[in-house]
Amino acid sequence: MSRLLVVEDDQQIGTLIESALRANGHTVDWARTGAAALDLVDRHSFELVLLDLGLPDTDGLHVCREIRMREPDCVLVMLTARREEMDVIVGLEAGADDYLTKPFGLTELLARVRAHLRRASGKGAAQQTVFQSSDLRIEFDARRCEIRGTEVRLRGKEFDLLARLAADAGHAVSRETLMADVWDTNWFGSTKTLDVHMASLRRRLSDAAARLDPPAVLPPITTLRGHGYRLEVSAAPRR
Ligand code: CA
Repeated sequence: MSRLLVVEDDQQIGTLIESALRANGHTVDWARTGAAALDLVDRHSFELVLLDLGLPDTDGLHVCREIRMREPDCVLVMLTARREEMDVIVGLEAGADDYLTKPFGLTELLARVRAHLRRASGKGAAQQTVFQSSDLRIEFDARRCEIRGTEVRLRGKEFDLLARLAADAGHAVSRETLMADVWDTNWFGSTKTLDVHMASLRRRLSDAAARLDPPAVLPPITTLRGHGYRLEVSAAPRR
């Protein structure tokens, strides 16, 4: 059974979410402030956090960053009333894996939670166990990404994204496929989530490669305009 944390100051919305999740068999903690949320995160381990960004005591984005730092592997879904595209992007960059814009239906919320938990528990569907190209090595089952023997810490969805591309290395993987396989087959939102995660994945890999001496050589992730991405099977020629 999975333990979930709901961070929501609105009594009515919080009650609805909490009872819907409980009715679906989840163990739920409900924090009404950012401080209470961080306190709970310090004391328990959560598989998934639903985080309202508009909190009375703390900036929701701050809470998002803090939770991400303390629980690198939990699934973090923002609940936001903010419709501004920038806010969603900033939230994703602050560590959220996904977001729901208020008002949302409980059916949609439950479907999203179910999909995230299924993905979090059933990882490693790939037949292949190891991918190696140039200095990049991915161990799918161990969920480990190494660059010339040094582990690179990736966030959950960043790893999933890289692993999905690696499973089809040398081939194009469409945006739709990535959204379906890494997030949720029923995903109908925009694909900003994908863009932000791809940008941070690339940044983390290139930063890690640059820190080595001599700098590591990685197979590039090529952007295919209007289609998707391709992880190349060999390194880009050194310049
Ligand atoms: Ca609120």
